[in-house]
Amino acid sequence: MTTSSTPTPAASSAAATPPAGPSFSDLPLAPAMLANLQQLGYLSMTPIQAASLPIALAGHDLIAQAKTGSGKTAAFALALLTRLNPRRFAVQALVLCPTRELADQVTQELRRIARAEENIKILTLCGGSTMRPQISSLEHGAHIVVGTPGRIMDHLERGSLNLEALNTLVLDEADRMLDMGFFDDIAYVAKQCPKDRQTLLFSATYPEGIAKLSQQFLRKPQEVKLMAQHASSKIRQRFYEVTSDQRLHAVGMLLNHYRPVSTLAFCNTKQQCRDLLDVLRAQGFHALALHGELEQRERDQVLIQFANRSCSVLVATDVAARGLDIAQLEAVINVDITPDPEIHVHRIGRTGRADQEGWALSLASMNEMGRVGNLEEAQGKQFEWQALDTLTHADGEPLTPPMVTLQILGGRKEKIRPGDVLGALTGEAGFSATQIGKINVTEASTYVAVERGIARSALRKLSDGKVKGKRVKVRLIDDE
Ligand code: ADP
Ligand code: MG
Repeated sequence: MTTSSTPTPAASSAAATPPAGPSFSDLPLAPAMLANLQQLGYLSMTPIQAASLPIALAGHDLIAQAKTGSGKTAAFALALLTRLNPRRFAVQALVLCPTRELADQVTQELRRIARAEENIKILTLCGGSTMRPQISSLEHGAHIVVGTPGRIMDHLERGSLNLEALNTLVLDEADRMLDMGFFDDIAYVAKQCPKDRQTLLFSATYPEGIAKLSQQFLRKPQEVKLMAQHASSKIRQRFYEVTSDQRLHAVGMLLNHYRPVSTLAFCNTKQQCRDLLDVLRAQGFHALALHGELEQRERDQVLIQFANRSCSVLVATDVAARGLDIAQLEAVINVDITPDPEIHVHRIGRTGRADQEGWALSLASMNEMGRVGNLEEAQGKQFEWQALDTLTHADGEPLTPPMVTLQILGGRKEKIRPGDVLGALTGEAGFSATQIGKINVTEASTYVAVERGIARSALRKLSDGKVKGKRVKVRLIDDE
């Protein structure tokens, strides 16, 4: 296969606009590669490329975190192509991606960058396509394989893919892959790779699972982070004065006004959490609480529903929320003001991540003003106050989460993998992948988030059809 991408228009205007950032020519790259980058209109390195390429080209393992669209593909493409021997006809680099679309995008970008060399063969291997043509392509040989973890694992199990000659393993969009429940598959694939390989991990966010992945599969990785996790400018704080009678009711008013998809509501005590949960539910909100009395399985279920956007509000104490990492959180509500300024900063830092804006809304009664004063002093600024009666509920529609969680009875024990469920829903059932959200596989259950509008029909199709060749029991988890 060849690509026919023509030089971008940017290349012709190169002479007029001098490169802004550091130049690729500062790197130990072949002249043909430098010329090709010029032709592609890559006149200078993007910040993540400038920060990660010297490390990757020197052969170190790497964890690189930067937002979407920052040029991460070219960063690992240049690293793996530099080490590649085109005359050796064996798989020397493997790139794992979360979805077929992303794998296709990576393959395209790799082809554009690889055209500086003659005849580098790149193969994409994703689920959803039949195995046979993939197997015969593999028999013809490839230098680079790009694919999704599940399908790569299938090929390894069948022996149709051999990774003995591999020298670079790339985990692209590692956070998304973890979101989709690919940890075990990635682990399986990584174990099949030679030990003395280089591993490059790219991610837009840095949830807990990334540390676990890197501890197990990276060797002395160097880290490059190009995004302030708690960029305070992304967090907008507002305070509302309430009486103690108004406090719990005010939470619903904030939700109806700001309409955040996901909100973490912090209370100072367990009792306050229970009371707030009752009030929110009585008002029709999809709310769940996280508290110490939950069994592990229940806690998992609550977190899964919140993270996959089928629950609007998670009510928690600081202790219960410890270690929780949710990438997309539109709002944090401080139902009570914490006496500890450090805890306050920690609470509000959970929103406004990954370059998105977030609201940090606080309710304070007269007798909490001393605490608020301490917070202002600690943060070195005056807070913005608004009155409760400025809050509106414009369209009168209840706040509803965009997704619904379906629970499939059967999980890791039954060898169910995310791809099996995605396949069942997008295959014969006929749904599109964009209607399917996160898929979490636990020991005994699999949870899949689907758009609210297709919940009933997805439930029916899954119950009537088969997952991994077997009939499964499915139920809709509804918190109402
Ligand atoms: P990410 O993986 O970080 O989301 P991509 O690798 O998909 O980002 O790159 C985003 C876009 O930027 C692509 O269209 C790519 O061709 C372009 N790009 C990458 N590096 C450069 C560069 N040095 N100069 C100009 N454009 C670049
Ligand atoms: Mg990318």
